Amino acid sequence: MIEIDNYKIKTLLFDISKKFILPKYKNLSNNDIMFKNKNDLVTVVDINVEEELNKKLLNIIPNSYFIGEEKFSKTPEIINQYNEKNYCWTVDPIDGTKNYINGKEKFVIMISLTYFKNILQTWIYNPLTEDLVSSRMNYGSYFNDKKLIITNTKNINDSIGSISSKYWDNDKYEKIIKLKNSFKKISSYGCIGLEYVDIARNIRDFLVLSKLYPWDHLPGILIVREAGGFDSYFTERSYNHCSDEQNLIVTGNYQLGKKILNKLME
Ligand SMILES: [Mg+2]
Repeated sequence: MIEIDNYKIKTLLFDISKKFILPKYKNLSNNDIMFKNKNDLVTVVDINVEEELNKKLLNIIPNSYFIGEEKFSKTPEIINQYNEKNYCWTVDPIDGTKNYINGKEKFVIMISLTYFKNILQTWIYNPLTEDLVSSRMNYGSYFNDKKLIITNTKNINDSIGSISSKYWDNDKYEKIIKLKNSFKKISSYGCIGLEYVDIARNIRDFLVLSKLYPWDHLPGILIVREAGGFDSYFTERSYNHCSDEQNLIVTGNYQLGKKILNKLME
């Protein structure tokens, strides 16, 4: 199995940030920002970063496949290829576009490398701090060079996390509202990549998620798993990017995950 050098990815992302992301940070004109659908904004920077990564990543593994958030918005059928292609790159060019547009700090670039159903390696890069969080299947997760190990033993009523409340159907929505009161605090960055990283760094305890596009979740899932955390669909199966299940919980420890699942079953 191929192993991609983290340094190579860090250099690539540093260069792309310098060329596309940082010059337009707090410097976007109205023409740079568009609606990509009814709810979501996209910028020329998202599009340029994704195109550049598409080119550069395919050079790293010739004949590999590429799925990007912005490419998907124009040609949704690209997402059906995970079961058919061997090496596949999945990219979110800017996670936290709204923060980027508003000149806020929480936004990252996210890359995943999969091989059919296996998540081989993932990367989350912060253009402002130049921190790279990386993970490799069976080899752990790292914040730059520091190994990430989850030691979180929090209980449900001490725990802090986020609930993505946008997309629940009515039945689940009521359960989620009830569940909300079990936690100490609900808070979100509007940048899911950094919330996953928080779990691996013992800063955040849980995520309750809906609408699972792989570019949003693949990177963080492997980072949390390799740091010792837990993930489960409401059906108690583990996350799998080839599945179209849409409701997931991610926690720093199994016991907390199990308690949240039990509350959802009540
Ligand atoms: Mg994005």
